[in-house]
Amino acid sequence: MKRFDVIVIGAGIAGLYAAMQLPASMKVLVVCKDIPWECNTFYAQGGIVTALDEKDVPLHIEDTLKAGAFHNMKEIVRIMSEESMQLREDLIERGMEFDRAEDGHLLYTREAAHSSSRILHAGGDATGRYMHYFMMRNNPHLLQRNTLVYDLLIEGGRCYGIRAMVNYRPTTIYANNVIIASGGIGSLYAFNTNSRTVSADIHGICMEKGIELKDMEFMQFHPTVFVKTPYARKLLLTEALRGEGAWIVDEEGRRFLFDYDPRGELAGRDIVSRAIFDYRRKSSMEVYLDFSMFEEEWFRKRFPNISHTFEALGYRLPRQRVPISPAFHYANGGIACDDRGRIPGMDGLYVAGEAACTGVHGANRLASNSLLEAAVFAKRCAQDILGRCEVRHKIPFFDKDYDTQLKKEHDKEYKYALREIMWKDVGIIRSTGGLHEAKNFIYDIKNRDIGRLLQLRLNTAAAIVEAALARKESLGSHYIEDNTSKEKKDA
Ligand SMILES: Cc1cc2nc3c(=O)[nH]c(=O)nc-3n(C[C@H](O)[C@H](O)[C@H](O)COP(=O)(O)OP(=O)(O)OC[C@H]3O[C@@H](n4cnc5c(N)ncnc54)[C@H](O)[C@@H]3O)c2cc1C
Repeated sequence: MKRFDVIVIGAGIAGLYAAMQLPASMKVLVVCKDIPWECNTFYAQGGIVTALDEKDVPLHIEDTLKAGAFHNMKEIVRIMSEESMQLREDLIERGMEFDRAEDGHLLYTREAAHSSSRILHAGGDATGRYMHYFMMRNNPHLLQRNTLVYDLLIEGGRCYGIRAMVNYRPTTIYANNVIIASGGIGSLYAFNTNSRTVSADIHGICMEKGIELKDMEFMQFHPTVFVKTPYARKLLLTEALRGEGAWIVDEEGRRFLFDYDPRGELAGRDIVSRAIFDYRRKSSMEVYLDFSMFEEEWFRKRFPNISHTFEALGYRLPRQRVPISPAFHYANGGIACDDRGRIPGMDGLYVAGEAACTGVHGANRLASNSLLEAAVFAKRCAQDILGRCEVRHKIPFFDKDYDTQLKKEHDKEYKYALREIMWKDVGIIRSTGGLHEAKNFIYDIKNRDIGRLLQLRLNTAAAIVEAALARKESLGSHYIEDNTSKEKKDA
């Protein structure tokens, strides 16, 4: 019988940083469903926020609360901001190389809705890739790829392990503690910037087990995404581009965002996304990101990845502008937990990273707060596990298995239809009628002969729709067109 001290589901920043906190003497297994670098962490571009110093903490907290429409849990935001400086020291001490000026000073950049430049970056615009590689090298534990978790072994308020397809074979693995670090829900949307592995499976299992998903109506859409590719994952153009001075323009070169918000390109993500969506609907014009103000050599050095990727697609940056559209980007909500990642009412089960709803982001995430949140609270999960006196509980008998039913004949077709309806009706601008249509679709498909993985996606999609229907007024990234926004009513 395989039994570990800790199983970590996911090998992004949350999973790997949690594993890095656990001593090599412990029996820890990190699993991921595909190759390890197929995760959102790897694709992160802009950077990671850390408060510059003690004086910056209240300002960082204020920026985070404003971006989150004050729906955030202030105490949790305070923990994150205060612990961010120690995180920065720890990463640098362990060998993480952030970009520095020639004189050795750390370089900080700024993104929308930040009141100061406090975002560290690496490899120019390849922060995620650098951090992921660094964490892979520093993880002292076994990392097992091709391990798709399709069930959590839960009985009497305790988690005893996982069931997973390991190299396509059903396998049961027991553990005293399980940390869910399985990322967000990107694959539920037709247009999204996320890794293909991020498909809300574990959220779906939680729904089935009666574990609360919180703030699921708050899905973040990124305004500057190149969507004209055939792949499900669309290409993000980092917010740092706008932070450095890039413009959003229409076909005639007009910066129309100022019609919507005096901050123009530096307004919050949800505002810019809705403005682009609305402007395109009204004007039928294409919208572009314009970099022509940048000097070529500087641009290529600061944004090497973007320059490279778009050159391969036939764009010469920074001279040529790129057509953009909003796309799904980040799940603000997730599996409810406390300030140590513990899932209420469930012993031995933790959650960290984008899968979690710690309360940090409220109704919308402040740019580059997610890598920070993932690392800070992953560490707190690990510390909680280390601080407990371990008792080896007797494992009950689990008889139910789904191994032969993970995928069925028509699943692919339903999966694509689900993505379309989520984009159309549960996207940037929602209406009560559209949400009901999406709900009917989801429950119709749920009652058909479908495989387990699609069932899990549908569970999560249903949670998003139900939460969106329950919130009658617009707030943050949840925008209902047929109802008045709370901000407008209050004004
Ligand atoms: C294009 C892009 C750019 C971004 N830029 C930034 C940025 O500049 N700054 C910032 O702060 N944030 C950024 N974000 C957001 C940030 O990258 C993510 O929120 C963060 O990396 C999530 O980390 P995670 O460890 O929670 O999940 P992920 O890194 O997504 O890892 C999820 C892991 O879970 C595994 N998994 C999932 N389901 C299963 C299953 N059923 N069984 C087994 N394993 C499973 C996956 O294989 C993967 O290993 C960006 C996101 C994207 C997509």
